[in-house]
Amino acid sequence: MKKQTEKATPERKKKPFLRRKVCRFCTDKKLDIDYKNPRVLRYFITERGKIIPRRISGNCAKHQRQITVAVKRARNIAILPFTTAVH
Ligand SMILES: [Zn+2]
Repeated sequence: MKKQTEKATPERKKKPFLRRKVCRFCTDKKLDIDYKNPRVLRYFITERGKIIPRRISGNCAKHQRQITVAVKRARNIAILPFTTAVH
């Protein structure tokens, strides 16, 4: 259980990536974190193949963790690249 800390911090800064106030996996129950599904995982990696940090992706800790595991797994079976070389 997380403690609800009241912080009035209006986030007005523009983020380079998708800025979501809530975790999209908590919002959308149908959305599955599946390492075999790169279409979902791609939302959470940069074009260089790096995992987008939670501050930016807006995922909750639980789901971010699942993303991390899924991405790593996907990399191992070559669904996602470790890095994408820019040619
Ligand atoms: Zn979540």
